[in-house]
Amino acid sequence: MLARDAQGRPFLDFLRAGCTFCRACLDACPEGVLAEPGRSPLAEVWIETGACLAHQGVVCVACKQACPENAVIFEGMMRPRINEACTGCGLCVPACPVEAVAWSG
Ligand code: SF4
Ligand code: SF4
Repeated sequence: MLARDAQGRPFLDFLRAGCTFCRACLDACPEGVLAEPGRSPLAEVWIETGACLAHQGVVCVACKQACPENAVIFEGMMRPRINEACTGCGLCVPACPVEAVAWSG
């Protein structure tokens, strides 16, 4: 979701919610500053293996269940990774109980 930083500038706060690509921000911006995401991922998203419960042997599929693109793949049942189908929507970020899904961009 869009949030404001200390200077009042908007930024994507995936810890609170991901993006549904509803385009409301594009339509609302009077300056036309926001670009159409097109085929590029909105953000780079990855799993921090050192923090991820599954990588430590604990059963957890919360990120996979939150992903509308089925972009979270489990290798050997306990090693999730995010593949090229990821749109960078960030919906998996707040779903993770230990903040092991990181992003940039
Ligand atoms: S892995 Fe899925 S839920 Fe997470 S950012 Fe990528 S597309 Fe969105
Ligand atoms: S939700 Fe978090 S802890 Fe669970 S498998 Fe995904 S990245 Fe790992």
